[in-house]
Amino acid sequence: MINTIVNCPHCGKPVEWVATSIWRPFCSQRCRWIDFGDWIDERHRIVDQTAPSADSLPIASDDAVH
Ligand SMILES: [Zn+2]
Repeated sequence: MINTIVNCPHCGKPVEWVATSIWRPFCSQRCRWIDFGDWIDERHRIVDQTAPSADSLPIASDDAVH
């Protein structure tokens, strides 16, 4: 059986693509949340600059992630 290895998008550490690697493609929960946080920051910056009515935009809560 050949295991697929991917690199963590955040730190580049090799991650086995198996059921037990629950944070794949990230190596850990920490890397997953750091990367996710960066994405949220970028999204909010874009929204702030381009959308005049931010109140009408749905904001994803932590509950919606799961
Ligand atoms: Zn990582």
